[in-house]
Amino acid sequence: MQPKDTVQSQVAELLNLAAEKAIHYVENAGLRRVSPCSSDLAALAGFHEPFPAWPSNLADVLNQLDAAGSPATVAATGGRYFGFVNGGMVPAALAASWMAGAWNQNASLRAMSPIAVELEDVVLQWICEALGLPPDCQGGLVTCATMASFTAFLAARHALLKRAGWDVTENGMFGAPPIQIVVGGEVHASVVKALSMAGFGKKRLTIVDADGQGRMRADRLPPLSQRTVVCIQAGNVNTGAFDPAEEICAKAKQQGAWVHVDGAFGLWARISPKYAHLTRGFENADSWATDAHKWPNAGYDCGVVLLKNVDALRTAFGINAAYLEPGARREPMHHTPESSRRARGVELWATLKSLGRTGLRDLVERTCAHAQRFAKGLQDAGFEVLNDVVINQVLVSFGAPEVTREVIRRIQEDGTCWCGGTVWQGKSAMRISVSSWATTEADVDRSLEAIVRLARESQSISMRA
Ligand SMILES: *Cc1c(COP(=O)(O)O)cnc(C)c1O
Repeated sequence: MQPKDTVQSQVAELLNLAAEKAIHYVENAGLRRVSPCSSDLAALAGFHEPFPAWPSNLADVLNQLDAAGSPATVAATGGRYFGFVNGGMVPAALAASWMAGAWNQNASLRAMSPIAVELEDVVLQWICEALGLPPDCQGGLVTCATMASFTAFLAARHALLKRAGWDVTENGMFGAPPIQIVVGGEVHASVVKALSMAGFGKKRLTIVDADGQGRMRADRLPPLSQRTVVCIQAGNVNTGAFDPAEEICAKAKQQGAWVHVDGAFGLWARISPKYAHLTRGFENADSWATDAHKWPNAGYDCGVVLLKNVDALRTAFGINAAYLEPGARREPMHHTPESSRRARGVELWATLKSLGRTGLRDLVERTCAHAQRFAKGLQDAGFEVLNDVVINQVLVSFGAPEVTREVIRRIQEDGTCWCGGTVWQGKSAMRISVSSWATTEADVDRSLEAIVRLARESQSISMRA
């Protein structure tokens, strides 16, 4: 055994080393190429060694992680990453995550971590306020929007089958009365996955036509019932479009159906009065799934599920064990699928506290303005923008599918910025998703310059071919 003060001084030294390396990483994330280059990727092979027989020197562990690990990250915290809908991380979230790491709290129960659970309570309340959702909603923090939707579907199936006299906890799903699931033609794949995990296979889905922007057509809704779940979308992953929630929720309410909102990123647009025309009516749903690691930039991982029917959550997720006293207040493990879980409320609290309402609104409005700037720059250069740029998503085509794919390949290889591809209603496109607090106008202009240059090069090559 080593003397205690020696161990403590080693820990302090190691934390200082980690801080030094992390600060260096943060300071350089906006300067380096966005994706790793091929030699950075090749160096990852160094991690594949036999399981070490002996303990390693602690500084060596960190040094290896930084030397071979840091360059093989995608610089999603810099300002020129526009792939998927991956947010950055606001400084308060990063700093709070260091504290949370030092605390190493299990956020399952208040008894295990009073602070972790209290902060979850606070942020769930703040999110309801920020997004204008019913104030008596309850829910929890989970890993991601997929899990948030999954959680909501498990609660919804409990509530809907209870109306039909079926107790899911007792009887399971085999032989249960059927539930109708309604989704739009441009439903996010993760919702289909969450539905299937909850026992609703693809053949059970009623798919309602979507329009050219991906919005579910309310006039095409089938007859709904007390045993229907309608899944609507706030923010399509490609176009950013919003389903007409006001109309759909009114119809669903009349017929007793449950409405679930996939609002992974788009729901946050409700913080800005500028987008009220798009986000109206989503407050009338029954459950909501969103991500704090996307638009609010709270860092990974942080999905949020909220429900009006708190009893459904408790019946779906409450567990009985002699050593787990139920308690009068919300206990995370009795409101979500997980038991042991990290204290993601800490970073989320720091994020929302540091931004406040105006900070979050600025973040949303600024990223939307950057998307407009991208769209204008691309159109001015003669390229076709496929979507109405209503929030922070831009879809651009560079011509024939193989040209668009080649442009994307070159952009990713070039490293100035990073954008991914998609196929939007039969047309190959590149997606630009502006989701980071760190992106500046200068980042947009520098990225535009690279995109336009590489697109022109690819087009002239394809014309010569
Ligand atoms: C990102 C996204 C999801 C899935 O989110 P995860 O956090 O990756 O599970 C679901 N729906 C939409 C619209 C999204 O943009």
